[in-house]
Order: sequence, then structure tokens, then C-alpha cells
Amino acid sequence: MVVEGSVRVNTDGVFYNPRMKTNRDICVAMASELGVNEYLDAFSASGIRGIRVRKEAGVERVVMNDISPSACRRIRENLALNDISDCEVTCESASALMSRRRFEAIDLDPFGSPAQFLAPAASSARSYLFITATDTAPLCGAHLKSGVRKYLAVPLNTEYHREMGVRILMGAVIREMARVDRRGIPLLSYATEHYVRVHMRIKKGAREADEALESMGYVEHCFGCGGWSLRMGMGCRSSGTCSFCGGRTCTAGPLWLGPLHDKDLLRASLKRLDPESRAHRLVLLCSEEIDVPFYYDHHKICRRLRITPSKVEKVISDLLEHGYRASRTHFNGVGIKTDAPMGDLISLLA
Ligand code: SAM
Repeated sequence: MVVEGSVRVNTDGVFYNPRMKTNRDICVAMASELGVNEYLDAFSASGIRGIRVRKEAGVERVVMNDISPSACRRIRENLALNDISDCEVTCESASALMSRRRFEAIDLDPFGSPAQFLAPAASSARSYLFITATDTAPLCGAHLKSGVRKYLAVPLNTEYHREMGVRILMGAVIREMARVDRRGIPLLSYATEHYVRVHMRIKKGAREADEALESMGYVEHCFGCGGWSLRMGMGCRSSGTCSFCGGRTCTAGPLWLGPLHDKDLLRASLKRLDPESRAHRLVLLCSEEIDVPFYYDHHKICRRLRITPSKVEKVISDLLEHGYRASRTHFNGVGIKTDAPMGDLISLLA
């Protein structure tokens, strides 16, 4: 028997990962803060996610689905164990279910890649889509060919590879939604431990979709000096030359280059999380990071410059003093997000 949040579930014979508690804590806080009324837990396993959303977030209509009949038996038992009698349990392929029915909010938490479920989810979700992807190697560029196959975009294994993963996944979802005249608006996007997670609001309309695509683009990365530059828009105009060191660049994308979070929503959600929890720390860090794509790894830059790294806070306050925007990032404990060009950052460090 497992106790998590305010529910208890029997996880015998079904998938249950205690490390995903943070992911579920945040999911419950978001569903609650957004006032979700209908939620599909499309890959339910023990049912713990849907049961927590019903009980802790008070979502009225919760549908729990799993393709495995034994998982569905376990979900029904676990609902009874928590005295819940008003949830629907379905036992079919998530794609088939989403192709037949519409849901206000859909949560995708499959084994590995969610890629094959993005198209049906983009049409089926009316207002919100929450997605977990555990295929971080393809998303972050460590398994390049698999990343290209799954997400039809080129990921690169850069120093900011965790954010690369989030932006490749977000880009794939935004493009999938644009195909059905919808716009995906990121609410909270993070990468931690072994997975990437995105939460999005959906707006209808071809014009909305066009606007979303304006924030798609490419990143030109130089593996020589670690610098990069952004190219906005779906058509890639790559110079092939690094503007810092003159070396050859590689291009990643198309990927999402717009904001990753709705900061007001994050600040409001914080009060629904235990201040001592990992979930609270993670959402707080996300709410404080500036909306600038990618980050510098402070230690790696200093190693390249052959200097001893000072404290990250010191570099951030120096950048702020010089009129740049700068913050820490949840992606990396020694990461620095800033709008300062790399040359200016290096002058400040050296
Ligand atoms: N969401 C769960 C949680 O928070 O504990 C974990 C889900 S687990 C990673 C994935 C589940 O998806 C498994 O129980 C598996 O039986 C189910 N599954 C696999 N393929 C599926 C499909 N095509 N449609 C629906 N469920 C599927």
C-alpha cells in the first residue's frame, strides 16, 4: 500500500514510480488553480494521478484510462479504497479514446515518448494539455536520429540540453496543435530527474495558431566556443558561422522559442504546494527565471576561460548592475539565464 498526498493506493502488479510524486503534486496544484472541471488521466496505471486530481483538486469529472485490463481492475479497487464512486474507468488505447471523445483537460503520462499521442491529444483536449516525456535522450539530442524521428526536429546535445528537450517537445506540441487551428500556450514547463513535463492552455482559431508559430524557430550553436544565436520563424536562415568566434555552427530546431511559463499562474499555484516540498522549490525557481531561451553553464564557461568560478549569485548581480536581465534557472544549479551577449558575459567574468 502506498500513501501519497491524501490518497492511498495498492500498486501490486501495476506501474508506480514514487519519484514522480513531485510531478503529480504539481499536476494537482495546477488542476486546482486552473479550476479544471473535467480531466482525462489517459495512462492511469494504479490510478493514483486521477484519484489525487479528484480528491485533492476537487475536479468533478475524472476519467481514468489504461489499456491494460489488470491495471483497470486495480484502478477500480483503488477508487473504492478512497471512497470514490463517481469516476469513470475506461480500458482502451489512449489514441482510440481521444479520437472518439473530447475532454477539457488531458494528461499524457505514457512509458517513454508521448510523440505518437500528440496528434489525437491536440484535437481532443478542449482547454488544457499536460504531458510527461521520459525519452530525454532523444529530446535532448543525445540520441539524435531517434529525436528527429519522434519530434520531426533536430535536437542538439548542447550545454543547455535540458532546456533543448523542453523546447523540442513544446515545439512538437505547438506544431501539432497548429495543424488543427489551435494555439498551445505554455503555463509551466520543466525538466528534472529523468523526464520533461509541459502544461499548456489551448486557444482555438487559425490566427491564434499562426501567432504561436511566430515563436517557433531555430538555435545556431557553436560547439567551439559554446555560444549560440536564435533564428525566429519556421523558415531557417542559418549563417553557419559563429558571431562570437567565427567557428562553424550547427542548427537545432524547429523548436519553441517563446515563454515557458505563465508566471502569475505559477505564483498563485505556489500557495497550493507544501513550502517544504520539492514541488514548491521547483515551481518557485520556474516562477523566478527570466523569459530568455537557454542558459550558460557558469562552470563550463569558467573552465573554458581557465578561471575559478565565482558564486552564481555574484555573476547574476553583476549582470543586473550592468543593465542586463539575469536569473538562475531550474534546469541547472550553475546555469545563468541572461540577455547579455556571450562576449559581455565573458568580459564580466574575466
Ligand atoms: N500516470 C501513471 C502514474 O502517475 O503513476 C503512470 C502511467 S505508466 C508510465 C503508463 C501506463 O500506460 C501503464 O499502466 C500502461 O499499461 C499504460 N499504457 C501503455 N500503452 C497504452 C496505450 N496505448 N493506451 C493507454 N494506456 C497505455
